[in-house]
Amino acid sequence: MILDEKFVNTIKLIALKNAIEFDNNIKPDVVISRAFSFSKFIIGDNHDLKSYIPEIKAIVSELQKLSVDDKKELYADILSRKNDYLRENEKYRNGKRHQAPEGKIKQKTEIDAAISKPKEQLLEFGLPILDGAVEGNVITRFPPEPNGYPHIGHAKAAVIDEEYAKKYNGKLILRYDDTNPLKEKLEYYDAIKEGIDWLGVKPQIIKNTSDDIEKLYDYAKKLIRKNFAYVCDCSPETIKKNRINSIVCDCTLNSIDKNLRSFELMVNGNYSKGASAILRYRGNMSSLNTAMRDPTLFRIIKGGNHPKVGSKYTLWPTYDFAAPIEDSLDGVTHALRTKEYELRNDLYYSILDNLDLPKPKLIEFSRLEFEGIPVSKRKITPLIEQGIIKRWDDPRLPTLMGLRRRGILPEAIRKFVLSLSITLSETKPSIEILESFNRKLLDPISPRLFFVKDPVRVFIKYLDAESVEIKNHPTLDMGKRRVHFENIIYISNDDAIRIKIGDTLRLMDLCNIEILRIEQSGDDDKVGNPDNKIIYALNKGNEVNHKIPKIQWVSEKDQIQYKILRPLPLYSGDKYNENNLVIDTGVAESFISKLQTGAPFQFVRYGFCRIDDQTTAIFTHR
Ligand SMILES: [Zn+2]
Repeated sequence: MILDEKFVNTIKLIALKNAIEFDNNIKPDVVISRAFSFSKFIIGDNHDLKSYIPEIKAIVSELQKLSVDDKKELYADILSRKNDYLRENEKYRNGKRHQAPEGKIKQKTEIDAAISKPKEQLLEFGLPILDGAVEGNVITRFPPEPNGYPHIGHAKAAVIDEEYAKKYNGKLILRYDDTNPLKEKLEYYDAIKEGIDWLGVKPQIIKNTSDDIEKLYDYAKKLIRKNFAYVCDCSPETIKKNRINSIVCDCTLNSIDKNLRSFELMVNGNYSKGASAILRYRGNMSSLNTAMRDPTLFRIIKGGNHPKVGSKYTLWPTYDFAAPIEDSLDGVTHALRTKEYELRNDLYYSILDNLDLPKPKLIEFSRLEFEGIPVSKRKITPLIEQGIIKRWDDPRLPTLMGLRRRGILPEAIRKFVLSLSITLSETKPSIEILESFNRKLLDPISPRLFFVKDPVRVFIKYLDAESVEIKNHPTLDMGKRRVHFENIIYISNDDAIRIKIGDTLRLMDLCNIEILRIEQSGDDDKVGNPDNKIIYALNKGNEVNHKIPKIQWVSEKDQIQYKILRPLPLYSGDKYNENNLVIDTGVAESFISKLQTGAPFQFVRYGFCRIDDQTTAIFTHR
């Protein structure tokens, strides 16, 4: 059996993605099932798919041999430089690109064919077409509740909502879903807007659900008049118990008129009988779908001071009621929400049906969080409240301000989110995939500088020059800097511990040295390295020698004390990771103080970082 070439390419693509999602381990069964689900778009129906299994397994085992980095590189390349490839591959096919490493380009060509093939099904890589979308008429909405700082999960929703609106020349609405005055704060509205702006997401309309409370009351009355809703003043415990046991309470027997009068009293804050009265939807108390067991539509919330409407209302709609009506009134055509709402879809459509309102199409996607870096308020908010983490922009947090402070670029988040598509699988992607997108963007804009951790002093004999000019980027023109020195430089203790008398090594962009002596220094000379040692060396000129180690250095005459914060995962499994912030101290070239706060750069042999303040950087990633 010879497989269609395009189908083979698709299989490879699926397998690479699977490897990245599962610790470099491609699961043949997953690849087979996904390949089958794609097959009809590529090779059509009428195939005995089972007969393809041995070949799919063979392809998987070939790809499995690639190193984890090769897989990731291939994958990230495809996604972040898709257009470049198309051009490169075009040239390659036309025989104009002679120096290209053939194997790699060929692989990319195949994969590119795979990702460009199902175009009739996919808009961008992995983003499926919207069912029933009409060019120019698509309206999506991003509806965050302003009860916390926006995080990577919000970014996923906002980017996908916007991307769809853009693809179909439609509109994106940012709607603050603000119906709980006890939890919402002005600070959070602002933080969400700031996060959205930073991501580059541009909604055409911005509004609040709290603008429409009166309208929502009107629709509630309409439901009551049609006998689809009733006021229930049973105790919360009774309601809970009845829901579990599918028991209908006596409140359901009240007349429409009585329900209307009770609701009116609730609206006006005058309902005295049972402080916890709620308006319930007449669903089906014996439904297998528990979301349909007469859910709450309105509840009384007293004592709140809503950031937008103050104390004007005490009766507030639930998400279950507000979301479908707001979506429908806003003209939303496609409402995307995370998979945990799936059980509530029946309720959403049922409410709109009973109110004769147009129904948006609901689409689910999996929520996004990284392994060890949860987004749930339950896990994050206590850390802030207890002062374990001081600020919402802490680089250990998955908040957008935390990711920004860490040095993640908004464009990397966008590319990363689109690479995940809107799959329903609940796997947590590795943050390394986001980092690989980010690295490609940072590389051409980050000057290369030197930092030595735990510095060890090196005296160099016959270092005659007084300064050296060093390029800020090895291949791009990012200017040069002049570093002044006398005869003392620092190297990192990590390098010093490997050095023996008689060794020759290269101080990058300076000279080669030969190690003459290694001594313990007196207390006066203590500079920070744990062993407190001093190295004496001899300048051995500038001859290029690829066999000797190349290390970075910092001139004693041209240094500042410097600190790097390295964030690690917040949690290890369910347990808070006590050691989630490493602080590396040492000396850096004084040139670094010329960079502005927020500027990205790379410390050679250390990694990409972002300036946090005059003497501190945050480690972004390798
Ligand atoms: Zn009741």
